[in-house]
Amino acid sequence: MNPTGEGPAKRLDGEAAAAAVRGRVQARVDALRARGVTPGIAVVQVGHMPASDVYVRKKLQAAEAMGFQARLEALDPQAGHPSLLSRIAKLNSDAEVHGYLVQLPLPSGWDESTALRSVAPEKDLDGFHPMNVGRATLGEGGFWPCTALGVLELLRHHEVPLAGRHVVVIGRSRVVGRPLATLLSLRDVNATVTLCHTGSGDLARYTRSADVVVMAAGIPRALTAEMIREGAVVVDVGIHREPDPGRPGKMRLVGDVDAASVAARAAWLSPVPGGVGPMTVAMLLQNAVTACERSLA
Ligand code: NAD
Repeated sequence: MNPTGEGPAKRLDGEAAAAAVRGRVQARVDALRARGVTPGIAVVQVGHMPASDVYVRKKLQAAEAMGFQARLEALDPQAGHPSLLSRIAKLNSDAEVHGYLVQLPLPSGWDESTALRSVAPEKDLDGFHPMNVGRATLGEGGFWPCTALGVLELLRHHEVPLAGRHVVVIGRSRVVGRPLATLLSLRDVNATVTLCHTGSGDLARYTRSADVVVMAAGIPRALTAEMIREGAVVVDVGIHREPDPGRPGKMRLVGDVDAASVAARAAWLSPVPGGVGPMTVAMLLQNAVTACERSLA
């Protein structure tokens, strides 16, 4: 089965890979609870945005379903940026919360950088604090951003070889592309990585020589079949909502990859939805149980 029914590409199944991760996390949560410790997480959300509401709900529900104590820390945007910093300070000293994240984006004009630097590094489930960026990059135990970790785990679950392979990552955000490029180049993964971005010019020049392409540019359907070689592995990180032409009045999700054409040429392709999305939530839970275990060590 391929994601679109139009080509030979096999499906990089994020639901299955995420279920496997959750199974391993569940065992660790159960072991903690058997010791009388309930791992606790929180999500800080300022105001409401439809997309953020969905993600926040998914994260909290997934955590609760596994036996975490999970709570929403909702803030009124009218209360202003200082209220966010004082909520962060409270969470940093709350012994019941082993890890948390601040849902992005913050309201326009709010200082994301200061907020993210105020999260205690040992509770920073998103891995955005400079201390975690540094530790993770040096292989010294920091938290990796969940989506980057999720892409690697998705490939590992399907036993896609990475050592010695050429991986082209498109997009250099601190959330996805940059940490993923670093992660893939670490010795225990051992891929050779090309990181493409807005200054790269003709992307096909790089992607045509790739064994694996990870597309995270945030542009709907931008990676097309002509840009990859026959038999490449393609991971689609993008998520976009657009009107569904087949169902008037309804919306559908599409990725950064033109799945219809790429599925005919690739060996593996991750679907949208059902690819990287579920992995991001699973890796958040993995970071959360790790944060709790480390707090006891
Ligand atoms: P971003 O906008 O922060 O970064 C996009 C990156 O792509 C930038 O570094 C930019 O240099 C690069 N880029 C943009 N246009 C380009 C072009 N024409 N050629 C080459 N590079 C180009 O986005 P992000 O936060 O990294 O997210 C990327 C996509 O992944 C978005 O669609 C986002 O919704 C999605 N996303 C999905 C998940 C998930 O869980 N599935 C998580 C995070 C982000």
